[in-house]
Amino acid sequence: MDCGIPFCHQGCPLGNLIPDWNDLVYRDNWKAAIDRLHQTNNLPEFTGLLCPAPCEGSCVLGINKDPVTIKSIELAIVDRAFDEGWIVPRPPASRTWKKVAVIGSGPAGLAAAAELNRAGHSVTLFEKSDRVGGLLRYGIPEFKLEKRLLNRRLDLLAAEGVVFRTGVNVGQDIAVADLRREYDAILLAGGAGLLRRLRGRAIDVAQVLARERAAADRHARAVWYAWRSS
Ligand SMILES: Cc1cc2nc3c(=O)[nH]c(=O)nc-3n(C[C@H](O)[C@H](O)[C@H](O)COP(=O)(O)OP(=O)(O)OC[C@H]3O[C@@H](n4cnc5c(N)ncnc54)[C@H](O)[C@@H]3O)c2cc1C
Ligand code: SF4
Repeated sequence: MDCGIPFCHQGCPLGNLIPDWNDLVYRDNWKAAIDRLHQTNNLPEFTGLLCPAPCEGSCVLGINKDPVTIKSIELAIVDRAFDEGWIVPRPPASRTWKKVAVIGSGPAGLAAAAELNRAGHSVTLFEKSDRVGGLLRYGIPEFKLEKRLLNRRLDLLAAEGVVFRTGVNVGQDIAVADLRREYDAILLAGGAGLLRRLRGRAIDVAQVLARERAAADRHARAVWYAWRSS
């Protein structure tokens, strides 16, 4: 690409090296492309599917043409890497024997656990839900993110040495003071669990939508009862 300054670098919250891996794909060097992608992105199979792609909004080509389809290229690279068997567990060569507790197993906690483990620290990831994944598992629906893809990445992390402890609500089931004693560092990745209240016009719109939805449900039920009793 002749974009001069690749503004996509600033557009991507991860700082993905987009022109680099685009060029590697162009040169049919997909293996190097996944290595370059993994340098800045621990979970490209999720961003390639789910990210709103602010990189494409920053693409220089987009000034007067359609931008480069960065997100699709990202997904193609990681899909191909899994198909070819290039993505395998890579445990660290040596251990620092420093212990880190990561609280929360959403994408933030998973990425942090991956990086800390790769640096050689012994990582235990605590999750209060019954399964690992945060909103990747319990927020984003199956049609948007198949849970087998999440499980595939979790298997890799476990094989690399990350320990998962589910059903542990830190602060309730285990005291922070105890964690402090047992671990050298604690990383908080608990997400945003509180609801945010809607304000002003947004409330009106939400209420109208809720009323319409309820009316549609009532109508559907009435039709069903009428059909059943006919
Ligand atoms: C319906 C829906 C659809 C979405 N779709 C998209 C999308 O298409 N693209 C996109 O980019 N984003 C999407 N998002 C947003 C995205 O899921 C979140 O931005 C992302 O999951 C935040 O990651 P996180 O790791 O910070 O937090 P979370 O995913 O919320 O994970 C935090 C985890 O910490 C755990 N935890 C909290 N407190 C404790 C504690 N004390 N002890 C133990 N565990 C604890 C929680 O149980 C949770 O599992 C969507 C969100 C929702 C709800
Ligand atoms: S689609 Fe990929 S490259 Fe683009 S902003 Fe999202 S994570 Fe970054």
